[in-house]
Amino acid sequence: MHLDILALFPEILAGFFTSSIMARAVSKGLVSYKLLNVRDFARDKHKKCDDEIFGGGAGMLMLPEPVSLALDQVKAEAARVVYLSPGGRLFNQAYAMELAQEKRLVIICGRYEGLDQRIIDKYVTDEISIGDYVLSSGETAALVLVDALYRLVPGVIRGESLQEESFEDNLLEYPQYTRPAVYDNMMVPEILLSGHHANIAKWRMKKRLEKTLLYRPDLLQGKGMDRELRVLINELMEGEEA
Ligand code: SAM
Repeated sequence: MHLDILALFPEILAGFFTSSIMARAVSKGLVSYKLLNVRDFARDKHKKCDDEIFGGGAGMLMLPEPVSLALDQVKAEAARVVYLSPGGRLFNQAYAMELAQEKRLVIICGRYEGLDQRIIDKYVTDEISIGDYVLSSGETAALVLVDALYRLVPGVIRGESLQEESFEDNLLEYPQYTRPAVYDNMMVPEILLSGHHANIAKWRMKKRLEKTLLYRPDLLQGKGMDRELRVLINELMEGEEA
């Protein structure tokens, strides 16, 4: 996957690409990237990239020209152009899986009050919000997007690590424990030490359901239900301990 990211503060993103799992993915050639500083495409001598908003109102808007000059440099080969914006389509794991199929993506990080609508109309295929809140910058939103996407690129992390994660199969993940078995007088659930794989799998499924019912019952609406799941849900509804 190749990512072209346009930002006014690309240094916020740079550290992510040179650290940890992403650095390894880049060195293996699984991910490549280019950070473009939109200010480098400003034409005037002051490198101005923002201006007042037509019709009035607080704040400034990113000037269209520097953004479009930067886009013209990278857009040609790109399948999709993402603009991160609180007014966009809500990002989730299914959307991440869809975008992770792309070989190339262009990502535009907004600043100030955002982008001139004509840039969105002309170039953007995906206007994406990472959640119902307003950040001060698209750079941090882009980090969230990129982090969710690149780990789905085959070879970046082991396939098994992606199984039974939160949102897989419309469920949240079950609770997990590591050594020591007793920490601060709290014991790891005994079943996890039993070595009985079928019982552990059943316990984990019940815990996934329990957590999903508690925090994200909306996820269950999109989930296919077999008899086993219905039994587990009934048990949980009747207050039986998982
Ligand atoms: N005036 C915009 C509005 O009310 O929709 C908010 C602009 S925000 C202060 C500046 C930039 O931060 C946006 O252009 C966008 O790139 C980014 N941003 C803020 N919140 C975001 C969110 N929830 N999802 C994605 N990007 C966001």
